[in-house]
Amino acid sequence: MTKAPPLRDDCFVMPRGVVWTPVDEALNRLRMSLESVLAVSEVSVTNAFGRILAHDVRAIVNHPPFMNSAVDGYGFALDTLPKGDELTLPLLDGRSAAGQPYNGKVPAGYAIRILTGAAVPLGVDTIILEEDVNDTKTHIHFHSGLKQNANTRPIGEDILSGSIILHKGRKLRPADLGVLASGGIGRVKVYKKLRVAVLTTGDELVEVGSIAQNSQIVDANRPMLLAQIKKWGYVPIDLGIVVDNTILIEEALNHAAKSADIILTTGGVSAGDEDHISKLLMQKADLQTWRIALKPGRPLALAFWDNVPVLGLPGNPVAAMVCTHVFAYPACSFLSGQGWLEPFSVRVVAAFSKNKKIGRQEYLRARLNTDGHAEVFKSEGSGRISGLSWSDGLVVLSHDAQKVNQGDIVKYIPFDI
Ligand code: AMP
Ligand code: MG
Repeated sequence: MTKAPPLRDDCFVMPRGVVWTPVDEALNRLRMSLESVLAVSEVSVTNAFGRILAHDVRAIVNHPPFMNSAVDGYGFALDTLPKGDELTLPLLDGRSAAGQPYNGKVPAGYAIRILTGAAVPLGVDTIILEEDVNDTKTHIHFHSGLKQNANTRPIGEDILSGSIILHKGRKLRPADLGVLASGGIGRVKVYKKLRVAVLTTGDELVEVGSIAQNSQIVDANRPMLLAQIKKWGYVPIDLGIVVDNTILIEEALNHAAKSADIILTTGGVSAGDEDHISKLLMQKADLQTWRIALKPGRPLALAFWDNVPVLGLPGNPVAAMVCTHVFAYPACSFLSGQGWLEPFSVRVVAAFSKNKKIGRQEYLRARLNTDGHAEVFKSEGSGRISGLSWSDGLVVLSHDAQKVNQGDIVKYIPFDI
């Protein structure tokens, strides 16, 4: 009689005889297999927020475009000041204000009223703050000691005409639109928005808003992943729930491959009887790799369906979300024209302790407390979707065994960056 195996009671222990691909290797393979082929279109800077630049952009003007005043005050030529500690200068009749320059030349030994943003008139190279001056209608009195060019903004000090202000692949942020505008740019070339299809699989799934009957469960992954895609600035394509049936899944993938640049599926990627996604991808798609050594979410399929990349994510909502951040984020950033971007991470102090086993990279639902230290969700159960909502990010523990003590430094990936 065959002997019973030892009891391990750890669903994340890596079964023997199976090759588990480390996360970094899986990421590397994914990266090597992807190709970005998005079309390019032109948009006005005003409509360019969130779009991805398809070219390096050079300024066509200087910023500031002319030397102007950084303050409200009085301008003069420093070299023409009389000697002494306390000085008096006669005031010229006239002023320079923003958009209303003084067009004459300020004579040596005179000061002129000048306001913030106003062009510095000829004959002026230095500006004194109005708070540092006692003024009468005709004169100003002040202490000497200013440096030449004080309180002026020289032409091009911020942006030089002809210089690259933003690089190809940049996802445009609000401030970037200000930079483009200041660099004289009115329109930019951007990549077409990446279309990301999401389909969930499982006989047990019912639509969000339905009351799950016996042995059913509401599809949590689709609303979650579609929103995540939207948050990243891509176009989500909702392909609905597909039951655990190879023919129907195949039809759905055929449809998805026509309408999307990348397909995310959830569920059915283990090696169980009803795991049709993995079976199908193995038979009919170019399955790159699956069974990745991470927790939560070890079964994961990376494949191509009609040349469209498919990420077969685990069904478990926590695992699906973690794998979305770990794999879909860099894949989508690459395909969208931003280059391969792995989630931004920072090193923070752990406010928790944990004994971690060897052989898998672990992602703990975490958030920073008011000291900026990472605390982790009370349960590691990968069905505990509430922990995802509780967390603001993930603590990443690498492949090796390790004991994390409170106060140790750990890697933290914030969801919002
Ligand atoms: P699977 O990866 O298909 O073996 O599913 C793993 C677990 O996740 C099972 O308990 C499923 O019922 C659950 N699950 C699968 N898909 C979803 C989904 N879209 N929303 C919520 N739970 C799911
Ligand atoms: Mg399933």
